[in-house]
Amino acid sequence: MLYTWFKRRRRRRLLNEAFPDEWMLYLDKAVRFYPQLTPEDQRRLRDDLRVFIAEKHWVGCNGLEVNDEMRVVIAAYACLLILRKSIDVYSRLDTILVYPDSYLALESAFPRSEPVPIGWRHGESWSHGSIVLSWNTTVDNIRDDEGENLVLHEFAHQLDMSDRFADGVPRLGSRQQYHTWKEIMAAEYEQLYDDARSGRPTLLDQYGLSDEAEFFAVATECFFLRGEEMEERHPRLYEILTEFYELDTAKMF
Ligand SMILES: [Zn+2]
Repeated sequence: MLYTWFKRRRRRRLLNEAFPDEWMLYLDKAVRFYPQLTPEDQRRLRDDLRVFIAEKHWVGCNGLEVNDEMRVVIAAYACLLILRKSIDVYSRLDTILVYPDSYLALESAFPRSEPVPIGWRHGESWSHGSIVLSWNTTVDNIRDDEGENLVLHEFAHQLDMSDRFADGVPRLGSRQQYHTWKEIMAAEYEQLYDDARSGRPTLLDQYGLSDEAEFFAVATECFFLRGEEMEERHPRLYEILTEFYELDTAKMF
């Protein structure tokens, strides 16, 4: 209770300060959807990202020094996912680790055993409070605009894991919504599988076939970056994501 009171007071003070001018430049430059938001949504996004930046631990890895531009860009895409949702700014997430580029991930086969390299990665999302991102990949995705966005992808995993399970099913409102979600996701997954096997071009990244969690993450990227095409080619998938994110991206971006 006391913690909540302190947190609210700290946030109020933070949001009473003027939004830094250079942060506006980063938003305008790197966050392509920002100018297309309504003034009310822009204000909400600015508030959310300021709280997000202030309350998370930012750790530069492999010699990287995390700067304000990195924080603003990452926070903006992370907060876009929850722009209209009445949830706190990723309350179970504590630390954002930023690498300059792809990095060699290590894993221990057994508890307390020596970690060994398991391959190069661009990002990871963990249920125990951390997320890992490659800054170069983030910048490349934004510049290339080819339907991929590492930040949207990894934070979609965070939403998926808000009920502690990485199963492609985030926290939903009702039993009926869970039922509809699973039915549509399974059908869309099957369709992607069939299209990929037959060599037909797909709108959704075929990496989504890895498992249900990856399917939800690539569907989220597509929803935000290719909303119009998704609405046309995958109307049912588009509809449940519109309901979940409370955003109509085909009309907005
Ligand atoms: Zn993933």
